[in-house]
Amino acid sequence: MVIGVLALQGDFAEHKQKLAECGAECFEIRQLKDLERKFDGLILPGGESTVIGKLLREIDLFEPLKKKITDGLPVLATCAGMILLAKNIENDNTVHFGTMDITVKRNAFGRQLGSFHTSSEMKYIGEVPMTFIRAPYITECSGAEILAETDGKIVASKQGNQIALAFHPELDECIKIYEYFLSLCSDD
Ligand code: GLN
Repeated sequence: MVIGVLALQGDFAEHKQKLAECGAECFEIRQLKDLERKFDGLILPGGESTVIGKLLREIDLFEPLKKKITDGLPVLATCAGMILLAKNIENDNTVHFGTMDITVKRNAFGRQLGSFHTSSEMKYIGEVPMTFIRAPYITECSGAEILAETDGKIVASKQGNQIALAFHPELDECIKIYEYFLSLCSDD
């Protein structure tokens, strides 16, 4: 099992650490030639979606990665990563991959609540800790399944092999979300 972790900006190192804890091999995707390697799943980390989106286009990673996602490569997208997958972004004109039928709102919890920690029940997985940092949430989930809500806001969803989380599982000790994601990735 090999997972590619997009490593242009943001907290990709923490995701690599979590994958290692789960016994999965991973490598960083930084340039086009990294895509020559075969991999079974993709992680889109948190960071700044505008910056990651711009870099993806500048170094020609955008189209090939989008194709892999639409072809069914399993993706775990967290926070800014979730924004990259959303078909609609309420408060941004630029849509990035747009491969999930969700509408998101950036920095949606407001300034005071910019960062906070909670825990909630997640479908297929159970109770998980959730760390939010200047997080988006999902305001509409037309074609995707809701996996978790907190405070009445949708914070996790799934569509086919794509999982989008508003929070940062890489910053908590729990590895249940990674184990679930890896169960969707097949290495045959
Ligand atoms: N606020 C960031 C954005 O809009 C996301 C924050 C994060 O990934 N922690 O891209």
